Amino acid sequence: MKINSKDKLIFDIAVIGGGASGMMAAIWAAESGAKVALIEKNQKLGKKLLITGKGRCNLTQENFTKDTLLDDLGRSGKFLFSALAKFGVEDTKEFFKAEGVNLKTERGGRVFPYSDSAEDILTALRKRLATNKVIVIRNNKIVSIQVKDNLIQSLSTKKGEILAKQFILCTGGKSYSGTGSTGDGYSWAEQFGHSVIEPEPALTPIRANDKWIEFVVGLTLKNVKLSVVQNNKVQDERFGDMLFTHIGVSGPIVLDMSKKVGELMKKKAKVHLSIDLKPTLTFDALDKRIQRDFQKYQNKQFKNSLEDLFPQRLIPVMIRLSKINMEKKVNKVTKEERQNLVKLTKNLIVSVTELVGFGQAIVTSGGIDLKEVDSQTTNSRKIKNLYLAGEVLDLDGPTGGYNLQICWSTGFLAGVSAAAAFKKEQGKEQED
Ligand SMILES: Cc1cc2nc3c(=O)[nH]c(=O)nc-3n(C[C@H](O)[C@H](O)[C@H](O)COP(=O)(O)OP(=O)(O)OC[C@H]3O[C@@H](n4cnc5c(N)ncnc54)[C@H](O)[C@@H]3O)c2cc1C
Repeated sequence: MKINSKDKLIFDIAVIGGGASGMMAAIWAAESGAKVALIEKNQKLGKKLLITGKGRCNLTQENFTKDTLLDDLGRSGKFLFSALAKFGVEDTKEFFKAEGVNLKTERGGRVFPYSDSAEDILTALRKRLATNKVIVIRNNKIVSIQVKDNLIQSLSTKKGEILAKQFILCTGGKSYSGTGSTGDGYSWAEQFGHSVIEPEPALTPIRANDKWIEFVVGLTLKNVKLSVVQNNKVQDERFGDMLFTHIGVSGPIVLDMSKKVGELMKKKAKVHLSIDLKPTLTFDALDKRIQRDFQKYQNKQFKNSLEDLFPQRLIPVMIRLSKINMEKKVNKVTKEERQNLVKLTKNLIVSVTELVGFGQAIVTSGGIDLKEVDSQTTNSRKIKNLYLAGEVLDLDGPTGGYNLQICWSTGFLAGVSAAAAFKKEQGKEQED
């Protein structure tokens, strides 16, 4: 929809931000027949959605249920109980299937469109927005919000004023700001009297300064255990896959660990990561395994005895770090040297320097304090006609489809709740 700068547009419900949560909220707000506007500052809706899952869009997570909420999201998981009960993983799958998107589930419960194209998810949402007659106003930044007596009165946009009875704020977090998520919602929330928990980059790669990493850039390690260590104590651990990059480490278990690493780094004491390359073997079992390999390759040089144990590209690194002479015959490697190799295999240390910032963070942790939002409706406890959904809230999950499911669930709840509030108010006006 095109609007001119002198226009004053009037809607029943206005949704601010056309990302995953805003589109879902607008769709369900309009389902009841309310006149809904979705306002997006970019030329296109869902710019961030298109880059999710490396363009494949991991849209939800099979194992994300009401029962796992606290484990998956920590204490803030409680807030999502109602939203997930009303619009959970199965509802999400049904929603997209109804729009003609075939889905598939990959390892670890990650759900993707069968086509491996995030574009299909966006197309489905746009189709449903059109079916429900949502008025999409693109390329229109909201610059300020007018509030009187704890009620939003209007939105001032680049092109004119927008009036509505109910409002839904879905401006996202602060990561990948090029997609439009510049944290605008946080300042408005503060202006409305909400507390905003300090937004921090989360699910980020981790910078490391170990020289050897440059020899394995691009190498993925599968099924390893990653621990974060501070004050000689393992503070947290993850099993799965990780990746070496030109700045340090990344990949699913590193991203998931980054929030904890960030928290620990604030305590000042040094933090490092420890990779157990053979987590299913105890120290003794691994020692026996290496003895068998050494038996097999007894007449070879040490440098040619490790191909059954490590990925090819990691072998030169492990040789160097083990400090065993690589030209040495395997049958001359001492017990002490072999046991040091076992130790190294179970404790390959990565020295953390810092987390990569918002520029490469998958999500923002922190945001509008959940204590000030009604979890049954997503209604703000500060502004009567305001509902909140998606990453702007102080909610974030691990990788694997959790974060988009948070958007679908809270978007749905905000949409139907704003529509119900509008209907109620309309009913009252008719009675008067
Ligand atoms: C690289 C990457 C990969 C990811 N992959 C996955 C994945 O595979 N699975 C998963 O579950 N999660 C993934 N995520 C996380 C997920 O994309 C986000 O959690 C989710 O998109 C947040 O949606 P949202 O609607 O809350 O916010 P956003 O998607 O950030 O949308 C907010 C919208 O509001 C608009 N806006 C902001 N301010 C204004 C304003 N003043 N006026 C008008 N419009 C405004 C913005 O332009 C934007 O379009 C990924 C994130 C990134 C960065």
